[in-house]
Amino acid sequence: MGSPAQTTLNFPGASSAHFYLHWGSPHYQIPNMAAYVFETWSNGLDWSLDGYRSYVEALKIQDLPTEEGPARKDAHKWGVEHSYNYTFTEDGQVSFTYAHRPIGGDGYAPVDSGASRFDLYQAALKWRRELRANVYKRLLRHGLRSGIEDYDLDLIECEYRTASETRPGVAESTSAQAFHRGHECFTSGCAQPLTLDPAAQS
Ligand SMILES: [Zn+2]
Repeated sequence: MGSPAQTTLNFPGASSAHFYLHWGSPHYQIPNMAAYVFETWSNGLDWSLDGYRSYVEALKIQDLPTEEGPARKDAHKWGVEHSYNYTFTEDGQVSFTYAHRPIGGDGYAPVDSGASRFDLYQAALKWRRELRANVYKRLLRHGLRSGIEDYDLDLIECEYRTASETRPGVAESTSAQAFHRGHECFTSGCAQPLTLDPAAQS
């Protein structure tokens, strides 16, 4: 029966689009959008609707919504359970909201929101932790000793993004290139290496 989601993306230059996805749980959708944002920042890609479309096309899997359509004002009548809204700026900042409609209800209650890439990465980490815990419990119930590895890797990715974003100067930067231009990478090697363990830097 699915768990349908409507996602609105607002990019600079008043370009917005609405996307529909049959399975739109935040456990996947928020981390997947965090991955899109991190890839766009890391590779210096355009913060644009076309950039998003190329990214999801390149994935060739239904990780993020690709089906565009009109805004569904009475989204609940269409069975939409999850409602996401992302606003990007030219310099790669992002704000977002996620609202959920209880089964049978006609209203959406806010569940999650943020005003920066860091907030999105943190939200992704939180949802992935919850997903991993759910999967782990299920595995234990079935007496299984494996099957959690992919979820562990997902968590490491989420932590990596968060660690990247907390380096001084990253949050204000449009892209990785812009960030590295801000310090003496070329003469001394990158002065701010990325590490998953902040203590290892001291
Ligand atoms: Zn650098």
